[in-house]
This record gives sequence, C-alpha cells and structure tokens, in this order.
Amino acid sequence: MTEQKIWKSEEVVELYNSPLLDLVYRAATIHRENHNANEVQISTLLSIKTGGCPEDCGYCPQAARYHTDVDSEALMSVKQVEIAAKRAKLLGSSRLCMGAAWRNVKDGAEFDHVVEMVKTVNALEMEVCCTLGMLTEKQAQRLADAGLYAYNHNVDTSEEYYKEVISTRGYGDRLKTIENVRKSGVTVCSGGIIGMGETIKDRCEMLLTLANLNPQPESVPINALVSVEGTPMEDLEPIPIWDMIRMVATTRIVMPKTTIRLSAGRTSMSREGQAFCFMAGAASIFAGDKLLTTPNPDIYEDLEMFDLLGLTPTDPFAKHPQPETKEVEYEGEDKKIKWSRPAHKIEKNINYSKKNKIAEKEK
Ligand code: SF4
Repeated sequence: MTEQKIWKSEEVVELYNSPLLDLVYRAATIHRENHNANEVQISTLLSIKTGGCPEDCGYCPQAARYHTDVDSEALMSVKQVEIAAKRAKLLGSSRLCMGAAWRNVKDGAEFDHVVEMVKTVNALEMEVCCTLGMLTEKQAQRLADAGLYAYNHNVDTSEEYYKEVISTRGYGDRLKTIENVRKSGVTVCSGGIIGMGETIKDRCEMLLTLANLNPQPESVPINALVSVEGTPMEDLEPIPIWDMIRMVATTRIVMPKTTIRLSAGRTSMSREGQAFCFMAGAASIFAGDKLLTTPNPDIYEDLEMFDLLGLTPTDPFAKHPQPETKEVEYEGEDKKIKWSRPAHKIEKNINYSKKNKIAEKEK
C-alpha cells in the first residue's frame, strides 16, 4: 500500500466551500499534473437486465416497488451484448459497462452468462466493467478471471444520509463489495449522486469515504439526480451546475489520480457547464442516448462538444493493462456472506411502494 494522505471531514468541507474560481484553479492544476487534460475517456453503459429490482433505492426507476415507466426485461443474450459492444467501440467508447438490476449476484446460469459476456467483450479489446450489485470474493475472482477490467459499486452518498435513501441494504455492504473487488485485482469504480436532498457535509463525507480507501478508487462517477416520475424523489429539482463543478473539483483534489466520470444528469447541463467540469478535473463521460433507463445526450452531440473543446477520446487500457481471460476450474463452496437487512424504515419509500400496489390493483 502506498503512503496516502488521510483526509478529515472539515478539510473536505472547507475545500468544497472555498471560492469557486480558486477551487477550480487548484483542481485544474492537480488535474494537469496527473492526467492528460486534453483527453476524455468514453464509456457506454448498457442495461443487460432491466427493472424488477427488489431494492428500494429512492432515486431508482428500476425498483420493482415504484410505479414508473420502466418495464422489466430479461437478461440479454451474449450475442446482443457483443453487437452493442461493437457499436459502442465504433463510436469511440473504450469501455463497456454492463448493468443488471440485481440486489446481489447469485451463482447459477445467469451469472455464468454474465461471465461469458465479460470474456466476449474483453476479446473485442474493450475495457469491460460490470455493475451487478453485491458480490462475494469468489464471484469477484470469477469476473476477474474472465477478464473484467472494472467493477462499479457506488456508495451513493454519505453513510449518514444513506439511511434516508435506501433501507434494503446497509452502507457496510457497499464497502464489503468494494473490498471483495479490490482483492480480486479488478479496478474499482465507485461514486455517488448529488441532488437527493443531502447537505454539503453529506457530499463531502461521501468523498471522504472514497478518498480514504487505500488504494483510492480508479474511477469515481459523479451523478446529478435525474428525478423520475413514480420514484420517491420525483419532485426534487435539478441541482445548479455550480454544485456539480464544486463536487468535481473537490473530488479531483482529494483523489488526484482517479478518473472522474460525469455520469447521470448531463442532459440538463449546458456545454459551458460541462466544459467547466472538464476544466475542474472530469475526464470521462458515459455515452449513448440512455444511461440504463434515464436519458443521456446524443453521442454525436458529445463528439461535437469534444471537438469544440479539443478533447480526444482515450484508447482502451491507457491506464492499466488489459486483463487476461483465463480458463479456471472453481472448486469448493463460496464463503457465504449474509448481506444486511437494516431495520430502519423510510416513510417516503414505503408510501411510494403502497401507491404502486394500489395502482396495480386498479389496473
Ligand atoms: S439502483 Fe440498482 S440496486 Fe437500487 S433499485 Fe436500482 S437497480 Fe436496484
């Protein structure tokens, strides 16, 4: 493990609240010391299994308990994923991130299928990322052996505010999964969402959690909430772009080498706003007209923006070598993990779930 600064909560809050131009200047300087500031890494996010999720994340239209426009879809075939990956690569993506609306990975045919998807996309010489929910050490190792480059598991917000957003699993479960991924040698992608009603302190506490991991995550996505009708967060207003810029800049300072990814919420950001985020240290975006189920800018508009800003897409494996796909026989039982079921209740989530049940009956 490398020597790394241990950040304190008040230091991060002070940074976040510092005069905006000073904050951006400091972040941009650190960005230029650690990254090629004229490059952008493009990822495509593909929903390989949509909707019907048993969790109660208050922001998510894929949670089965809320009444949204998202219909459940079964797991994609390996062929469908291969076609999507080739298309994404043609349009400049160096990474394909496959998302499944699961609480946790379960051993069996579906997981075997995902392992095949990882092998297939790795053979196309693209970085492969998965976001499949909670993961045991052995499952993480299987994905690593298949050639997985990164695993995404967001901490979402601060530990304190997490209890207002999700009640079906605990913050500790998130950290345990991240630890399992880290042990397997797969790179870690973990970030969060702002605009869910949290305080500045919560935002900074989330960054503190990530910054004090050793090593720090290789990738940190910063999402702005996209409030979706039918979810408990449907009435929340979009956050001002300045909050996003502050968040990106603070992330850059506390995690100098991490790739910061502008994720959900870009449809309500102007080009100037996004340019400011790139200036402050963002170096990656999700491309494609949808981010799992929420809207995202058109890829051609993004390519035009990159041209305007003089940003060139990075090649795959620019930061870490391509993982090898290995054929391994797995023996013995996996160490069973009892993922938590916290006892607290979130009134808003319960009300929305009741509303859904009534709507279903009335159909
Ligand atoms: S964010 Fe993920 S875990 Fe939470 S409800 Fe949505 S799909 Fe399920």
